[in-house]
Amino acid sequence: MNALIEGRVAVVTGGSSGIGFETLRLLLGEGAKVAFCGRDNDRLASALAALQSEYPQAEILARRCDVLKEEEVNAFAAEVQARFGGADMLINNAGQGFVAHFDETPRAAWLREAQLKLFGVINPLQAFLPQLERSDIASVTCVNSLLALQPEEHMIATSAARAALLNMTLTLSKELVGKGIRVNSVLLGMVESGQWRRRFEARQDKSQSWHAWTADIARKRGIPMQRLGKPQEPAQALLFLASPLASFTTGAALDVSGGFCRHL
Ligand code: NDP
Repeated sequence: MNALIEGRVAVVTGGSSGIGFETLRLLLGEGAKVAFCGRDNDRLASALAALQSEYPQAEILARRCDVLKEEEVNAFAAEVQARFGGADMLINNAGQGFVAHFDETPRAAWLREAQLKLFGVINPLQAFLPQLERSDIASVTCVNSLLALQPEEHMIATSAARAALLNMTLTLSKELVGKGIRVNSVLLGMVESGQWRRRFEARQDKSQSWHAWTADIARKRGIPMQRLGKPQEPAQALLFLASPLASFTTGAALDVSGGFCRHL
């Protein structure tokens, strides 16, 4: 693929694991310079080491930063500016879901989910906006979930917060188009990643293998492709939307759910 991003700068929030990490690998494969963040220093260091060993010549910046802490995000943006002279692509990926029905969702969890899904995008966007405004290929791409359009009872707070994010993303695409910045989303179904690994570790039946456990989820949930997605699959969609390959696309939400979507 020629994503037309050689020498361009991509920022991925939450790049130390799962989908964000695979997105960094694809971006580096296309010759981009990358910057990524996460909250855990050990995870950041091991992701950085893995990327440097796969792409020894690449320019890579890893920084500890919680996307919910405005001052940390501003410092991350300042470091990207100083090291690379600005950013062309912002990929808002950091986050996780919260599994609980309404009667198991405390008030604090509602607030936490709303804050993570909205300010997890607002903080990086505010911090990187001046840099994006100077790019001639600027894009903002948000990792969102199919829950935004197809809510699930067992993830009520995450579903509602995801819907709010999708709503905000569409508005942003209208507001920023005049500045030459495209804004798009991917809507994920279930994708193998760090969060699913953690749920696997906490499974009831410890005799089940990872393959059997994920296949069981896919079957019970009725995913038409009968499996969970691989993190490379949303990463490919993110690369497409973030790059000039999607130069006439803004305000879009691309489904990456293995056919799980049940609405028009
Ligand atoms: P992972 O847990 O593998 O990766 C999440 C990444 O985000 C890690 O690098 C984590 O690092 C980082 N992160 C989490 N919270 C913050 C924060 N506040 N500030 C900075 N970094 C943070 O999960 P996935 O790859 O699955 O998740 C990627 C995105 O995809 C998330 O937004 C998730 O909600 C979304 N998604 C995933 C689905 C799936 O089935 N996998 C389905 C729908 C949406 P650290 O913990 O060190 O901060």
